[in-house]
Amino acid sequence: MMLGFLLARAGIHVIVLEKHADFLRDFRGDTIHPSTLELMYELGLLKEFLNRPHQELREIAGQVGNETVKIGDFTHLPTRCKFLALMPQWDFLNFLAEQGRRYPGFHVRMQSEAVDLIEESGRIAGVRAKTAEGIIEFRAGLTIGADGRRSIVRQCAQLEIIDQGAPMDILWMRINRRPGDPAQTLGHAQAGRIFIMIDREDYWQCAFVIPKGAADDIRSRGIENFREEITTLAPFFRDRIHELRDWKDVSLLTVKVDRLKQWHRPGLLCIGDSAHAMSPIGGVGINLAIQDAVAAANILAPKLLNGNLSPGDLAAVQRRREFPTRATQRLQIAVQNRVIRRVLSSSQPLRLPLILRLLGRWPFLRRIPARVIGLGFRPEHIHTRENVARS
Ligand SMILES: Cc1cc2nc3c(=O)[nH]c(=O)nc-3n(C[C@H](O)[C@H](O)[C@H](O)COP(=O)(O)OP(=O)(O)OC[C@H]3O[C@@H](n4cnc5c(N)ncnc54)[C@H](O)[C@@H]3O)c2cc1C
Repeated sequence: MMLGFLLARAGIHVIVLEKHADFLRDFRGDTIHPSTLELMYELGLLKEFLNRPHQELREIAGQVGNETVKIGDFTHLPTRCKFLALMPQWDFLNFLAEQGRRYPGFHVRMQSEAVDLIEESGRIAGVRAKTAEGIIEFRAGLTIGADGRRSIVRQCAQLEIIDQGAPMDILWMRINRRPGDPAQTLGHAQAGRIFIMIDREDYWQCAFVIPKGAADDIRSRGIENFREEITTLAPFFRDRIHELRDWKDVSLLTVKVDRLKQWHRPGLLCIGDSAHAMSPIGGVGINLAIQDAVAAANILAPKLLNGNLSPGDLAAVQRRREFPTRATQRLQIAVQNRVIRRVLSSSQPLRLPLILRLLGRWPFLRRIPARVIGLGFRPEHIHTRENVARS
């Protein structure tokens, strides 16, 4: 949606295909990072954007055993917004779609599911999509695969996937928030368990981290047992834990970390989760997807306008975005292996790891995780329309 908006803004004709009838899906990433808010400012949309209901997160804290420690502090970031905004993903996508409609070249087609690629003389020339009117061929000078971690586009294009593995899955749920609840700490780790709670004003968005593939075993022990596990980690939920009536109130996220060896073929480019599914560690998947979109628009818009797009330009997008992707995934995998794996397999009471003790003691160190999460590596900036026209 972001790339569609940016290309339409540059004067290019774009069709965004979305397989669902709306964007209403619970338990998706709802984090709008300071780097994305900066892009909104550069686009002149920040004020309007922040008028939408959202929450602002200025620091991140975690609890290990009984000790609480501050981990990240966004208030020193060199950005206009020194916080991470929490906004339902459907509000964010609807906002971008509304902004896109200001440009004559921008079209969104809901309930249009890409099912196959059109290939002509070794070049991708568009997609076939299942729509209410049957299968329709959408031909395009450039096709973008931005269809998420289960991308059909990358599968049809037979792009090679490098699977990096993940030791965990996540059970997501929402539990009502009540006056008198403790302040947000985000992560709670105890021997064998990790529980994350995000304050969404009238409810807590909760994630229970489990060992990879353990969901069936947990379900077989019954919802009562699961409720008990949650209240051990967050005792103040005891008065409302019955809100989790059955397993329908708990969604499973199968965690994947992978990336494509090559993100492109002639006529086709994959970005976002389709090019690199991220671990949920740090909640940076949206940030990377948005940054990919901005880099792709900056590099490709002038070429598309001039009609001289070449495979080398698609490779240039991968070159630009591969370093931030690899560096972020490397960090995520280190945390997965050194922290998550150990906590999940531990049966002894946990001690605060050295790195968290240092973050707790030296406030300035908390700027580092805040920078990695809030800005990421190699943050992108909007090329103005004037720049695009000039280049
Ligand atoms: C439960 C959960 C929690 C997460 N939490 C966070 C978080 O807190 N912070 C964060 O930064 N990231 C989070 N993420 C990751 C984040 O959601 C993704 O990294 C990010 O949304 C990737 O954006 P994308 O546009 O590449 O793909 P997606 O957001 O997955 O968008 C792909 C879109 O394409 C549509 N689509 C799929 N297939 C087709 C098709 N064949 N034809 C047409 N349309 C299609 C989908 O319906 C979807 O709307 C979370 C992910 C999950 C699953």
